[in-house]
Amino acid sequence: MTATTKDYYEVLGVKNDASTDEIKKAYRRLARKYHPDLNPGDKAAEKKFKEINEAYEVLSDPKKRAEYDRFGKAAFEGAQGFEGFTARDFGAGFGGVEDIFSDLFGQFRHREAPLKGPDLETRLDISLEEAFSGVTKAINLRRETACKSCGGTGAESSSVCSRCSGTGSIKQSRGLFRLSQPCPSCNGSGKIVSKICQACGGHGSTLTTETVKIKIPPGADTGSRVKIKGMGGAGVKGGPPGDLYINLTVRPHPVFKREGNDVYVEVPVTVADAVLGGKIKVPTLEGPVTMTLPPGTDSGKKFKLKGKGIPDRRTGIRGDEFAVIKIIVPKKVTERTREAIREIERAY
Ligand SMILES: [Zn+2]
Ligand SMILES: [Zn+2]
Repeated sequence: MTATTKDYYEVLGVKNDASTDEIKKAYRRLARKYHPDLNPGDKAAEKKFKEINEAYEVLSDPKKRAEYDRFGKAAFEGAQGFEGFTARDFGAGFGGVEDIFSDLFGQFRHREAPLKGPDLETRLDISLEEAFSGVTKAINLRRETACKSCGGTGAESSSVCSRCSGTGSIKQSRGLFRLSQPCPSCNGSGKIVSKICQACGGHGSTLTTETVKIKIPPGADTGSRVKIKGMGGAGVKGGPPGDLYINLTVRPHPVFKREGNDVYVEVPVTVADAVLGGKIKVPTLEGPVTMTLPPGTDSGKKFKLKGKGIPDRRTGIRGDEFAVIKIIVPKKVTERTREAIREIERAY
């Protein structure tokens, strides 16, 4: 089956004695005009395009041209080259034609299907107080974002791929089977770029620095990861952006020591408070509280302040605080004090 009943020379608009160069020039001009990528949905253009290719396939080959001049199209009826032409790639199997294609249209072709952008990772240090109450932090993030001019497609203008009608896949016959595979013309995107975006040079993304607010929920700990959807690198050819992962480190605190959701604090007390008991001030993450120390408290004794720890990230249930008593002895003592201490010594 041939695509045209017309004379091949007529199809290309050249004289019967046209040189190979003239034929090539005529083909390029016409192919550019009628290429389906540039005439989406135009059936007449598509037909014309096939005619042009068929004519060029013969007239560009001196051997085939000679046969055509002698026998006309009968020389090629049933020949492999044209059989199933419509079902196959416009270029595949037509060596010379394909070369000219990529030459003419390669620059306009969408070479990649949409792809999700890369995930990004960054680290952030927070204080224990911030981990306790939760915090919103602003960080400067430098990343590739989808070009605003073209929405990340890299195309200022594009048309529906005529080969796959925008579906992104084509059916191919393999013996008895019909297989569906990504359309090679548009690489599965369903679109053909007809003009490259000027703002991003067709790349689809631009490097930007922006301030991103990161909400860290209460209970974060060193090693916690916060995921921010869509704040990663730009997607490829209109694909969605990747995600941003923030690895948290909670800085050590000068007063509180953290163990899971519990906190430990050392509380210095005087010998008198330890022996006689009394009211002492204990720091907590929400400010100091007053605690009653029972008489006869040993150094190192732990008092549990229930529910004064750090909230659990998932349940919100708070851990406990442990006040660890540390008896401080006076460093400068008078003779009278010395005497009093000896008196205490006898109490053991
Ligand atoms: Zn396609
Ligand atoms: Zn762009």
